[in-house]
Amino acid sequence: MTARQWSDYINPVVKSIPPSGIRRFFDLAAEMKGVISLGVGEPDFVTPWHIREACIYSLHQGHTAYTSNHGLPELREEIAKYLARKGVQYHPGREILVTVGVSEALDLALRAIICPGDEVIIPTPCYVSYMPGTLMAGGVPVTVATSMDEGFRLTAEKLEATITPKTKALLLCFPNNPTGAVMDREELLKIAQVVEQHDLLVISDEIYDQLTYTGEHTCFASLPGMRDRTILLNGFSKAYAMTGWRLGYAAAHGDFIAAMTKIHQYTMLCAPITAQMSAIEALRYGETAMRKMVEQYNRRRRLVLHGFKEIGLPCFEPGGAFYAFPYIGDTGLTAEEFAEQLLKEEKVAVIPGDVFGPGGEQCIRCSYASSVEDLTTAIKRMGRFLKKIGKH
Ligand code: PLP
Repeated sequence: MTARQWSDYINPVVKSIPPSGIRRFFDLAAEMKGVISLGVGEPDFVTPWHIREACIYSLHQGHTAYTSNHGLPELREEIAKYLARKGVQYHPGREILVTVGVSEALDLALRAIICPGDEVIIPTPCYVSYMPGTLMAGGVPVTVATSMDEGFRLTAEKLEATITPKTKALLLCFPNNPTGAVMDREELLKIAQVVEQHDLLVISDEIYDQLTYTGEHTCFASLPGMRDRTILLNGFSKAYAMTGWRLGYAAAHGDFIAAMTKIHQYTMLCAPITAQMSAIEALRYGETAMRKMVEQYNRRRRLVLHGFKEIGLPCFEPGGAFYAFPYIGDTGLTAEEFAEQLLKEEKVAVIPGDVFGPGGEQCIRCSYASSVEDLTTAIKRMGRFLKKIGKH
């Protein structure tokens, strides 16, 4: 009998999932000096001081214990009030679950609804966790590529054409990571119609809702008939610059929340109490500080779009989040080659678009959650790089 390798003990589904393509570029960039990173998907701001103070105060008060599995009632009430302002009512006691980031909420949503072999439709380019998350929950991710010509929006026709008898859910993310695309109410209403006709569920990741620059964000669950079909995910990482606090939530019909809570209570127990205390402060008094950060992102968004235009890099205009997704197809390089050469020759780290699935192959993701100074230097360096490779 041949000896088993330790890797033979690993679950084949886990083994089949490649490591994140983003990580590889972080590692490459970390080995070099003087790199300007447009790679990270997180705010460059520190959490507003009054939110940090709320955390310190809660510790002074001795709040160091577990909370209810669902999360602190005061926090769920604040979340319900916030969502009511977005046009959808949830019962804070039964229909809201506080989680360890949107990451946990996404995992719970997928595990709560997927049976082996169920298909989940995922418009791409998309956030890197969607496909692995679906696979690890036993589902089958079915991608629908969107293109720059379509503004990276999902159309009802494309959705309809992708549905099979095995389709269980659609996973939406607007504003989108990595493209920055937003969908307006009219477009989402058409998607909602198809969802209803085919009796689908929707997981709507709205983590970038506050970072919408071109109009009002439409909460998918607020559309007619969609509240009870939607598991709405949101959190504090992006809007309040709280990535390290690890706090998010799900809002949905009580049956979905009960199922998700069952998994959550046996795995996570509850989200950290200090983060929950601080999130109450964020929702009650954080609007002004948050608006200031959003203004800065919007300013940088315009700077980046203008800069890319100047250096001859075609770019779809992102309406939300803090990413630009310029097209590098004219350079004759693959996105991977472009990102690697740009890093080595000009010390600017970007993420090749293929990492985010079909539709991203000829683009690169540039996060503009960086200082104006760094963005200006990065664009200059990118311009020099384009000239060097003879594309300007
Ligand atoms: N969803 C999207 C679309 C994201 O871009 C991210 C983080 O980059 C997450 C979820 C994870 O969020 P959290 O920090 O709340 O786990």
